[in-house]
Amino acid sequence: MAYITINKENFYYNLQQIALKVGSVEKIAIVLKDNAYGHGLELMAELASEFGIQHAVVRDESEAQKIQSLFQTTLVLSGEAHKLSKCHYTINSIEQIDSLPKGTFVELKVDTGMRRNGIVVAQLEEALEKIEKQGLRLVGVMTHFRCADVLSSELFWQIKQFEEVQKRLKALGIEDVRVHSCNSSATLRQKSIQEDIVRVGISAYGYNELPYPFDAIELRPVLSLYAQKISTRTINAGERVGYGGDFVASRSMQISSYSLGYGDGWCRGNAKKPYLTSDGLEILGRVSMDMISLESTIDRVCIMSDAQETAKYFDTISYEVLTALSSDIKREVEK
Ligand SMILES: *Cc1c(COP(=O)(O)O)cnc(C)c1O
Repeated sequence: MAYITINKENFYYNLQQIALKVGSVEKIAIVLKDNAYGHGLELMAELASEFGIQHAVVRDESEAQKIQSLFQTTLVLSGEAHKLSKCHYTINSIEQIDSLPKGTFVELKVDTGMRRNGIVVAQLEEALEKIEKQGLRLVGVMTHFRCADVLSSELFWQIKQFEEVQKRLKALGIEDVRVHSCNSSATLRQKSIQEDIVRVGISAYGYNELPYPFDAIELRPVLSLYAQKISTRTINAGERVGYGGDFVASRSMQISSYSLGYGDGWCRGNAKKPYLTSDGLEILGRVSMDMISLESTIDRVCIMSDAQETAKYFDTISYEVLTALSSDIKREVEK
């Protein structure tokens, strides 16, 4: 089987860097959605909690159930709501308010420009009334930026929109709620963060997705992906490897098959552009469901140790490479 190792020192280094940036560990809400960006939900939740992180963000209730006991608060971004003890539920639309059970902790998402989820600014008063009528407990107000990682002033326009929302909330007497808006890029990009928490995902896992010239803090990748040898053979010049025989040996070589394929969430990609592993080994020919071939005889090969580099081969982003990794792959902390 393929397996994943988690570098705890690097994870803690990243969290430390983020804590320095935002002022304290208490202000970090670690985003653990989608199996902690492929790193392993429970494992990363435990490490984050051990580090002192008190707030988590997850995709849905089923993720929340697995980790909520480790944190002071767990924010559920979407899906059904059944009022788990410490969970906060995101309000993504005005209609949703009617379906939430009385007494549920809710955080109101305001759409300040992303045009995806949340109530629109004009619905603010209506939403607050409905929340009160439904007997919900408003504990947070949030927004999400569409252009935090883009070299433009759009982020600052959206920050302004959210500041207006906060002014209106204040005028309506809503003060005792946490306010948050920043994902990793917005956190890394701004000089200081005044809000109560930041919701950081990708940066905690080691990637700075800001384009040059924002490269301010160094982060270290946390996840490495390994494959194990299945069998070895010697092939002669002219012989072809794998489905379609796409790879043609130009000389005699010793090749082995290794236990990683698109069934594990590894991208099948484009065989015309060979992928190089962390050690510079080329994936020979097509990726199979559970296998790849490499010119190597060693027992285990590190296929990826930097998802941002890997993403370039497949013309995508680190997020997709990481979250695609099957949750069935074994994950353990590097010794
Ligand atoms: C995924 C997500 C984040 C984290 O984004 P990163 O770019 O990984 O830091 C923050 N907030 C919301 C609402 C999200 O969905």
